[in-house]
Amino acid sequence: MNEVSRISRHPSEHGGLPREHADLLNPSENTVPDGEIRPPSDPCQPAEVLLRLEKVCRRFSAGTVPVEAVRNVDLEIYRGEFLVVVGPSGSGKSTLLHLMGGIDRPTSGRIFFGDQELTALSARDLTWYRRRHVGVVFQFFNLVANLTARENIQLAAELVPNPRDPEEVLRWVGLEDRADHFPSQLSGGEQQRVAVARALVKDPDLLLCDEPTGSLDFAAGKQVLKVLSDLNRLLGKTVVLITHNTALMALGNRIVRMRSGEVVEVRNNSRPLSVEEITW
Ligand code: ADP
Repeated sequence: MNEVSRISRHPSEHGGLPREHADLLNPSENTVPDGEIRPPSDPCQPAEVLLRLEKVCRRFSAGTVPVEAVRNVDLEIYRGEFLVVVGPSGSGKSTLLHLMGGIDRPTSGRIFFGDQELTALSARDLTWYRRRHVGVVFQFFNLVANLTARENIQLAAELVPNPRDPEEVLRWVGLEDRADHFPSQLSGGEQQRVAVARALVKDPDLLLCDEPTGSLDFAAGKQVLKVLSDLNRLLGKTVVLITHNTALMALGNRIVRMRSGEVVEVRNNSRPLSVEEITW
């Protein structure tokens, strides 16, 4: 077993449908009312830190003037939370997300996934972390154009040892009747929900969403946000959503504000709004 695979084996890897997953398939039985977030863990227990960033910096030196895209970031991500990272364009949000997802490495500082230091991993083990533990949703979907929705999801499923059932994941995002459509036959919102399904089929610990509504109209954007919110509230998925849209802050149970590469505020939100309640 390599370094990363020993860290966290999700209970669902051991067979059977976890109860909370069954809840999503039968939403009428779910008892979580709209607008209320189930706490990340038992309130009597300290929240489990999934990811920890310590004094993380990322400097780009490609141009004539070096850019400090991320500066001295200390941040913890808790299992089960819905974290919104907000800031203007160029404030370092995407760079931070890439560092969290093992897509990029910091210039200095350390990142831990559980007790495992990601910044000390070999390229091969970092790839395994990315594949096994992280799902990423990008602004422009990044689907393979000549594969159907189902095939795009199946392709991702092949990357991990114990994927979810692609049909089940298609149902989670409400696209079971679009499984055989190619991306060009789907609306932007539908393509983004396929991208969410593709991230989910790996059953990742961490769902990282980079401006997931940035190229969608209001209605389609809300549908995608509803899927992400349900995945967090009903399946307990840890979601990190980065956006320049301040209206989306209200969805998070914690909000991180970035400016010029720095985290300038981390705020708890004890009463997140439901997707139905927000507008922009
Ligand atoms: P945001 O997501 O908040 O818009 P980014 O993280 O994309 O911000 O970018 C932060 C800063 O880092 C910007 O000044 C951007 O130009 C710079 N940057 C990002 N990626 C690179 C890169 N690969 N090479 C050079 N500069 C980069």
